Amino acid sequence: MSHVSSLSRDVPLLERYRQFLPITDQTPIITLHEGNTPLINAPRLAANLGVRELWLKLESMNPTGSFKDRGMVMAIAKALEAGSKAVVCASTGNTSAAAAAYAARTGLECIVVVPAGKIALGKLAQALMYGAKLLVIEGNFDQALDMVRALAEAHPITLVNSVNPYRLEGQATAAYEICDALGDVPDYLALPVGNAGNISAYWMGFQRYHAAHLVESAPKMLGFQASGSAPIVHGAPIAHPETLATAIRIGNPASWQLAVNARDESGGLIDHVSDDEIVAAWRDLAALEGVFCEPASAAGVAGIRKLMREGRGDAGGRYVAVLTGHGLKDPQLAVEQFTVPAPIPAELDALERVLNL
Ligand SMILES: *Cc1c(COP(=O)(O)O)cnc(C)c1O
Repeated sequence: MSHVSSLSRDVPLLERYRQFLPITDQTPIITLHEGNTPLINAPRLAANLGVRELWLKLESMNPTGSFKDRGMVMAIAKALEAGSKAVVCASTGNTSAAAAAYAARTGLECIVVVPAGKIALGKLAQALMYGAKLLVIEGNFDQALDMVRALAEAHPITLVNSVNPYRLEGQATAAYEICDALGDVPDYLALPVGNAGNISAYWMGFQRYHAAHLVESAPKMLGFQASGSAPIVHGAPIAHPETLATAIRIGNPASWQLAVNARDESGGLIDHVSDDEIVAAWRDLAALEGVFCEPASAAGVAGIRKLMREGRGDAGGRYVAVLTGHGLKDPQLAVEQFTVPAPIPAELDALERVLNL
């Protein structure tokens, strides 16, 4: 069924999907073993949501803990091919982690610009450890993106945000993997929407596989923005986007029109989910399926739940939810959801008393 099933799991992503990627004889095949992420069945969560079949694409299992590695390995390979010595990006955290890692791996200089106070701790740690030049601005992601776009125009520095077309090419590989794993397309693909590159990349990927006759149809794309950061849903940019899901705290998505095309061409939708709905889905993913993703990643599952609740879902459908990033990126927000118990004496009877045994 899969045209790649005979190849080793150790084959680099750029090699495995070479025929669908903009790779030439001059493109260096770099890798940190990105991609090839698990697609796991989630029957307990499916029952909870009221859908027949739910699969989770664990993009958290990429080398820097998010799907950004798929696009970054392609963008960095093309930057190297072009002779670039430095790359720059604006980031809500995961793009900077991925850019810094692949830049370190290949000896490029990496500059990252992030909004003050809105980066999850794990992501900040990654950019610093991978040796990026970190700049923190008194502004939000949208302003950071405007700045780095202007910087890359004025200087010989390669922009590796998702406005770099190679990013979307690399990210489309996740759609190929889902088709290869299922031997078909799902009915629905649900995912968070921030800068809107990922929904656009998936749609491009599904269309390509369809055009290559590797699958017989394409899924409906279900994108979800956070209610406080939902410019596409409202049809206008948002100057001060807010949400605890910092990875999708974006008020003016760069791939806005591509995302709208993905929505309309697939017969899908782009809707919004509240922070409370995101947190509930985030906790259910961990507690019902043992899958700890970051808050933004839960927006797809929160969205499926909203559609089912409002009678707009498809109980008989086969859903794939993309879990875009790892839960350990933002442990602080997780711990804040709970009350950590006060210490007890280090004695068996104290333990038994607390456990009512
Ligand atoms: C980047 C990111 C998103 C948003 O993806 P876009 O391509 O910007 O829409 C969602 N979740 C996580 C964890 C991310 O890192």
